Amino acid sequence: MKGQIWKLVDEVADFTVAARRRFHENPELGFQEFETTAFIKKELEAAGVEIVPINMETGALAVIRGTAEWKGAGEPPVVGVRADMDALPIAEETGVPYASKVKGIMHACGHDGHAAILLGLAKVLQKLRPHFAGTVKLFFQPAEETLYGAERMLACGVMENPKPAAVVALHGGVELPIGTVGVYPGPFMASADLFKVKFIGKGTHAAYPHKGTDALAAAAQAVISLQMLLAREVEVNERAVVSVCQIHGGHAFNVVPEEVEIGGTVRCLSPDVRKQISERLRAICSDIASSYRCRAECEYTFGIPSLANDPDVTEDIARAAAAMLGEDKVVRIANPIMGGEDFAYFLQKAPGAMFRLGIGGDVPMLTHNPGFNFADESVPAGIAVLAKYVTEFLNPEGK
Ligand SMILES: [Zn+2]
Ligand SMILES: [Zn+2]
Repeated sequence: MKGQIWKLVDEVADFTVAARRRFHENPELGFQEFETTAFIKKELEAAGVEIVPINMETGALAVIRGTAEWKGAGEPPVVGVRADMDALPIAEETGVPYASKVKGIMHACGHDGHAAILLGLAKVLQKLRPHFAGTVKLFFQPAEETLYGAERMLACGVMENPKPAAVVALHGGVELPIGTVGVYPGPFMASADLFKVKFIGKGTHAAYPHKGTDALAAAAQAVISLQMLLAREVEVNERAVVSVCQIHGGHAFNVVPEEVEIGGTVRCLSPDVRKQISERLRAICSDIASSYRCRAECEYTFGIPSLANDPDVTEDIARAAAAMLGEDKVVRIANPIMGGEDFAYFLQKAPGAMFRLGIGGDVPMLTHNPGFNFADESVPAGIAVLAKYVTEFLNPEGK
């Protein structure tokens, strides 16, 4: 099977790289991936892949059914693979010939590569149908960067009828060399919440602070105390981040302002710690406010949940990667990532895993950066590992 997969991957490699560059040159923001979606659908249709209509203007659901006879117990299995496809509001500075033609928008997170890999995978799996039983669902998901795309797609019922027993996704990893895959079992990416706290006092002449109550002093105290929350209240082995990223208040050098607002984000791997911080953040801000004779209005918004990789699915991916790329190309990632990823919502519907596909070259790159570019050389490895994972999962003899 390994040789057969590589042969098919090699056949689609040029097409997939061209598709990747096409997406790169024509980037579209979340929920506006019209051209990207049209191209994907056209290519899926040309390859004879079934597209299931969903109630979304962008994004696509493709279904490929194996034609091998299922010899395992029960119903033949279903597996899902998801890729995102949206770009970012960043002005490109890579200087590549296929650089963004759209002013102020670029693929700076590699979603051009993810979408192209999933499209290449569709073409490979369509030809591999005689070798597997059951069903593969391919999710071309819009608007990952807005963090609303996955939820919207799931609301269309894409994970039902039939329901995948596992769902996987990859993300380019600048920290890993091209040709490698990184895996991590367990909580791998953080939840991402937002908070805003308005401290309300009584404005006064700066020369007579005792005539008012100082919302600015309360806010300043809160900024420091929120770090003490991590240092003194969260268990030391837990990973969590509280970052205050905004502070607004005051208009004049000689007026104590009436209101000061702070805002920021909370990142956690554990849902329990997330709950703890959300509750204590409110309490700390309102207690500090009252100790300064002010009051606090706190808005805490729960964003994406943390992303926890299922250990069994992770091992299946590691095995597929070892088979296709070599044992030495499978990297056991040491630490989770405190960034967020809305694939976490898919993992609330079925066990699954996100793995990292090495795209790190000689030049160090950062995602969400004007100089970022996905590595074309990593595309075949991405398709091959996913094809191997899917065909193993759906192998006609059962697990
Ligand atoms: Zn991103
Ligand atoms: Zn991304």
